[in-house]
Amino acid sequence: MSPANTKNLYANGQEPARYGFGTLAIHAGAEPDPHTGAVIPPLSLSTTFKQRAVGDFVYEYSRSDNPNRAHLETAIAALEHAKHGFAFASGSATTATVLNTLQPGSHVISVNDVYGGTHRYLNKVAGSLGVETTFVDLADAENLRDAVRENTKMVWIETPTNPTLRLVDIVAVSAIAHEAGLYVVVDNTFLSPYFQNPLDLGADLVVHSATKYINGHSDVVMGVAATNDDALASKIRFLQNAIGAVPSPFDCYQAHRGIKTLHLRMRQHAENAQRVAEFLEQSPYVDSVVYPGLQSHPQHELAKRQMRGFGGMLSFRIKGDTNTADRFLQRTALITLAESLGGVESLAELPARMTHAGLSPEERNELGITDNLIRLSVGVEDGDDLLADIAQALASAVADN
Ligand SMILES: *Cc1c(COP(=O)(O)O)cnc(C)c1O
Repeated sequence: MSPANTKNLYANGQEPARYGFGTLAIHAGAEPDPHTGAVIPPLSLSTTFKQRAVGDFVYEYSRSDNPNRAHLETAIAALEHAKHGFAFASGSATTATVLNTLQPGSHVISVNDVYGGTHRYLNKVAGSLGVETTFVDLADAENLRDAVRENTKMVWIETPTNPTLRLVDIVAVSAIAHEAGLYVVVDNTFLSPYFQNPLDLGADLVVHSATKYINGHSDVVMGVAATNDDALASKIRFLQNAIGAVPSPFDCYQAHRGIKTLHLRMRQHAENAQRVAEFLEQSPYVDSVVYPGLQSHPQHELAKRQMRGFGGMLSFRIKGDTNTADRFLQRTALITLAESLGGVESLAELPARMTHAGLSPEERNELGITDNLIRLSVGVEDGDDLLADIAQALASAVADN
């Protein structure tokens, strides 16, 4: 389970990384500046670069490539054990660019409880590119076989999913997908590369909303992708420039700074989340808790096999209804009622009326997103303080039922 065991997970016969995760997080793409010796490479805001002779340059134009983005992309590739890394203006821009690699007439299979914005893109935007999607429950990877068509090109999965933390077996899905010649894309946002490296488990491309754990400080919107497939990489590199949904150098600088503490943050997120999950599970004010690190999670064994830690996200059903949940969310003193996740500060939200309000009541019901389901992004504050805050808000919210 420890990151020291990373090497055991190299399923694709690649060379193991020479350094451990923390060393790579701090040093990959972070060489001191060769001109000034600055230990931290400077922020380069220039949109254009002087050419020594026509066509003789390191960087040409900032949308195509620039120093801060290149440094960040190197770090992302290192942490995801990939040859190629890419940064985009948001996680959603990453999704859009990746789906643009498909030809019109292509078919995509997506896990059914995919991130809402990905569902919206596949359902409402990709159609105009001539790309059709089928949403499939992949709790059993075998379900993939029946959904494959002659024109299927890509499988899109997320694990754990949001907000009910279902897992998809990446090894099993990749094996079936590769038999059929499909690309496997994994949205790894919820765990970050610290706890899961999908490429080592057989996936072809890994994507993240770097807005979440990778930047980790709730002050940058960004997306990243990484792959070992040269052909796919060259298509994505072309589209990154051609579509131009790229992040600013400043945001790249910030996200790269965030990465340097990713290992420290993720350990604390997971330690706090485990404590909060165990506390909630024994609380008389709680009906149920969903966290992959609990024995009660239906896929706990898969979690132990596939992940190197259980992450910082959990959901629970408070005893009561949507009003009880709303009272809880208003009465926490430390935990902030807000969307998004993955920052150092703890956040809580009500999926049924916030992040997942766009789904129909039937769809929410099918996914287990009940009106009393509260999602917590457990931050890296002192665990005792988080438990005390949750205890007082629970007691107070349920007392008024
Ligand atoms: C937030 C999120 C996205 C979208 O990323 P943005 O940076 O908000 O565009 C995609 N996938 C998951 C799992 C997310 O949590």
